[in-house]
Amino acid sequence: MTANAGRLVDSFGRVHNNLRISVTDRCNIRCVYCMPEKAEFMPRDQLLTFEEIARFVAAVAPLGINKVRLTGGEPLLRKDLDVLVRMLVEIEGIADVGLTTNGMLLAPAAGRLRDAGLERINISLDTLDAGRFERLARRPGLDDAIAGVIAAKRAGFDPIKLNAVVIRGFNEQDVAPLARFAREHGLEMRFIEYMPLDAGHLWEREKVVFASEILDVLAREVGPLEPAPGCDPRAPALDYDYRDGGGRVGLIASVSRPFCGSCNRLRLTSDGKLRNCLFALDETDVKRLLREGASDAELARAASSSVSAKWEGHEINTARFIQPDRPMYSIGG
Ligand code: SAM
Repeated sequence: MTANAGRLVDSFGRVHNNLRISVTDRCNIRCVYCMPEKAEFMPRDQLLTFEEIARFVAAVAPLGINKVRLTGGEPLLRKDLDVLVRMLVEIEGIADVGLTTNGMLLAPAAGRLRDAGLERINISLDTLDAGRFERLARRPGLDDAIAGVIAAKRAGFDPIKLNAVVIRGFNEQDVAPLARFAREHGLEMRFIEYMPLDAGHLWEREKVVFASEILDVLAREVGPLEPAPGCDPRAPALDYDYRDGGGRVGLIASVSRPFCGSCNRLRLTSDGKLRNCLFALDETDVKRLLREGASDAELARAASSSVSAKWEGHEINTARFIQPDRPMYSIGG
């Protein structure tokens, strides 16, 4: 028997251990690069229940899924999310439960999430300027987001990652202030290249601020950087350390340096569709299986088939690229 027998391995040899779970497609903001102003949301009875999510995770954990991350939409809009965290932490084989949030509802929830066993928090914050926040998010909320960051620190989360999407003509001027803010507060700043997953299909390559440009700004305006020791060149984030010991910055260069070759992720949408890539055009209907009484073995087989069908890469940089119908908020970022 080979080392990967019974694991989620695709036809390119990539082993999958990481499941992103969207718990809702609803959001309390409307970021221009993600959602339309008038979004249509899934009827609530179409969302997987906490029990259904936990049942699926328990079925795929024996195949090697050991890391899960809750996302959305805005996952903290889902009531009692700490209850789900606790259910997932208790599943045998699940070693790490994380959360990606815009932070606006985090202040009152951080302590409960930590007590429930949440390991990691990533907070999305694209600007420290209240006016620009409102233009990007089409809603006010900067103060609440910052209160969320502070509460996460106080609750003891460490590391806390701050994620910013940088879009030309919108928030390039925020790169250095965000990096300085992260340094000051002992947070790890990560800059993400804008991807063609916006609801309006308005993405243009010219609007992508490439990781190399961001690095130049950081080196010039914040401080000299060097590649982090042991940084895996195939990992999603290219990590750099400030030479003065002032912390770490990550660059997620999905467009200029796709990391599909080392992808280990699967995604479960809030309405129970399993996707083997952010950019996948096909999905596996896990909710139907769950609601029709499928066995754990059938759920595991569905996950294996989805992984087997995974493409080599997302093709953003080729003429073959087709933007999926589902925007980021509906997939789960
Ligand atoms: N509401 C949560 C949040 O804000 O973190 C979780 C969901 S949100 C869709 C997850 C991440 O996807 C955020 O960091 C967001 O900035 C990012 N995102 C959304 N649309 C994107 C796009 N077109 N390109 C790159 N990142 C995007």
